[in-house]
Amino acid sequence: MVGWLVLSKGSGRARRVVLSAAAKVNLALEVLGKRPDGYHEIATVMQAVDLSDRLVLEDADGLELVSRAPGVPTDATNLAWRAAVALRDAAGLERGVRITLDKRIPVAAGLGGGSTDAAAVLVGLNRLWRLRWPVARLGEVAIRLGMDVPFFLRGGAALATGRGETLDPLPGGGLALVLVNPGIAASTAGMYAGVTPPMYSDGGRVRVMATALRRRALARVAGALWNTLERVAAPRHPEVAQMVAALLAAGALGAAMSGSGLTVFGVARSFDHARQLRARVTRAAWGCWAVRALRGPAVRIVG
Ligand code: ATP
Repeated sequence: MVGWLVLSKGSGRARRVVLSAAAKVNLALEVLGKRPDGYHEIATVMQAVDLSDRLVLEDADGLELVSRAPGVPTDATNLAWRAAVALRDAAGLERGVRITLDKRIPVAAGLGGGSTDAAAVLVGLNRLWRLRWPVARLGEVAIRLGMDVPFFLRGGAALATGRGETLDPLPGGGLALVLVNPGIAASTAGMYAGVTPPMYSDGGRVRVMATALRRRALARVAGALWNTLERVAAPRHPEVAQMVAALLAAGALGAAMSGSGLTVFGVARSFDHARQLRARVTRAAWGCWAVRALRGPAVRIVG
């Protein structure tokens, strides 16, 4: 085994690529209106955080996906699988890959788990298939897979507009957060379907968040947290208000729901403080993580 690895390295032929794929939170999210194509126009500040799935990509004859995580499809509907097909077609290759997906990011939780897996497959296959495509070219494939996928190709923090695909980088990192997930899956489409015109806003809150991040002003970041979709989720799921209240009672500087939920996150003063908050809000039914915001890439090749 060791001999094969050495030989493989020496000959420059990667047969196996291991990646970590980080989640995101939406520090602020506003719905600006509905577009003629039926999608919502949004403005959001996304921040990658170090709660990550692990993917192993290996050369194979056909396409194969292995995952033991409940609620994660192992067929062509998995976003990681779709990413492999999309890149294979875009590159005009006839190659297979075996994807082993170790899920650590809760599924259907507003943390972008499927999207970051898709971005990781694009980055990993770019290496495994020795395409040497620049990120911008991978981005053209990414956008066809989902609005959040281009964000994960870059990571850090970004202001996203349009359907969420137009990205303006922001200084990321420097934040410590606690994520709390109630173990209840939420449908993104279902959440957007509950948005009514009186909930539309002008993007002002998202701009305030972007400014707070640029100034690295922690108290202003905590004060600018906002998610319009929380107004849809909270009446449907009392857990959302319970998680927010638990985080604030534990001493979080602010708390809000991420994306289409139902994960809620709290802002801490430091990573140590985040760990203390995590210990204070932990409940049997909730998943809780202390995480750091990432400055750099959300997807990393780790082996
Ligand atoms: P969104 O990006 O729409 O906000 P999310 O982050 O809330 O979604 P995901 O974890 O991406 O949620 O899962 C959404 C749905 O996508 C799940 O119900 C699951 O069936 C399906 N899915 C497809 N591929 C994946 C994947 N690689 N990981 C997790 N879920 C996946």
